[in-house]
Amino acid sequence: MPVWNPWHGCEKISPGCQNCYVYRLDSQFGKDSSIIEKTANFDLPISKNKNGEYKLANTDKKIYTCMTSDFFLSKADKWRKEAWQMIRQRKDIHFAIITKRIERFFVSLPDDWGKGYDNVTIICTCENQEQADKRLDIFLKLPIIHREIIHEPLLEKINIEPYLATGKIQMVTCGGESGENARICDYNWVTDIRRQCIEYKVPFNFKQTGAKFKKDGKIYNIDRKLQITQAKRASIDYYPDQDLEIGQSVQLMNNLFIRLGQSEFRSKFKLDDKERNYISEKGIETIRQHARDFICQRLAPAEPLKDGKQTPMKGHPVFIAQHATGTCCRGCLLKWHGIQKGIQLTEDQQEYIVSVIMEWINRQLKR
Ligand code: SF4
Ligand SMILES: [Zn+2]
Repeated sequence: MPVWNPWHGCEKISPGCQNCYVYRLDSQFGKDSSIIEKTANFDLPISKNKNGEYKLANTDKKIYTCMTSDFFLSKADKWRKEAWQMIRQRKDIHFAIITKRIERFFVSLPDDWGKGYDNVTIICTCENQEQADKRLDIFLKLPIIHREIIHEPLLEKINIEPYLATGKIQMVTCGGESGENARICDYNWVTDIRRQCIEYKVPFNFKQTGAKFKKDGKIYNIDRKLQITQAKRASIDYYPDQDLEIGQSVQLMNNLFIRLGQSEFRSKFKLDDKERNYISEKGIETIRQHARDFICQRLAPAEPLKDGKQTPMKGHPVFIAQHATGTCCRGCLLKWHGIQKGIQLTEDQQEYIVSVIMEWINRQLKR
């Protein structure tokens, strides 16, 4: 995730700030996070390298802005105008700004802001109902082209239906709290927000479980490294425009297999006896689960580890199926399936990939 932190340090203003990760990380280095300072990276968006190219390249990814402070912090009023100028100058890249201070939006706003810059997404964060009602009401009245909501840390059940009903929210993200003193995140709160998003056809993303995750009445301590993957395992992200009709998906699948059959490289892959035995030993449903796990771990992250080399050429029927179907890496996913790189795969995309892999395996088994 590309980040630009023009200033560092913040002031706690609401319950969500209690275990602020900026404070947590700084304290490990004996640094006082309440001191607000411009960073050495202040002018990152407009800095250039020796060859005269921008250091911050246009990569189709959102640049997360001010992640160790709050963009609308009053102590940063004196710097914000200049920050906006840089954002204005870099219309080729998209800036995402997460804030708990949406009521200060107009302070130091550029004169030519108009209805909003198209290269800026403002993400209003609200951890509980009180903050949601206070902030979202203001948020929806502001001149902003791209609006998202994030509930992180999600501290209670929140009703955002009236805000979603305006049709002005482009995405809702949920997540638990990290760190030693993390407060509980209840899966019921997460699925309730998801339900609201589905009702109003707003994309929904369950980003991470947090460190203390409650599910079915039980509290789980989740290791930092697993908080994102565990959330993705729940497979509850929702993207309305990707709802595929069953009939349509059969047609797409057939077309895909015709195209794959035309590729000399792809059609070289076959299941041999060893893999066929493995499948009959484990059962097809277990293989499907392996496929889900592999996709979730090796392909789903926005930037998978060793992308392009993450799928071995042998050792598991799913690996072979991945090479055969162009689902082996993000480059092949883009080429064969038109799935964009650099963005976390959605639940529906992952399920689609699994269905392609299983279709290939089933076709092989019939031979
Ligand atoms: S607003 Fe964000 S960065 Fe500032 S103290 Fe609160 S949680 Fe930390
Ligand atoms: Zn590949």
